[in-house]
Amino acid sequence: MNMNAICPTCNKETQLGPANSYRPFCSERCRLIDLGQWMNDTYSISDTTVNTDNIDPDFLNKH
Ligand SMILES: [Zn+2]
Repeated sequence: MNMNAICPTCNKETQLGPANSYRPFCSERCRLIDLGQWMNDTYSISDTTVNTDNIDPDFLNKH
């Protein structure tokens, strides 16, 4: 019995069976990429918070 799904990262067909420990992803690489994107979102939010203290007032006046 095949239980196939689409990998959320690369959109390739992947197996959902117990043999695939990275499900719903097709591989560890795709799982880490998805995790990395989530982490990057978190980091960019905290980066923005930190950087607002360092924004040059002249830069804000131009916009
Ligand atoms: Zn994949």
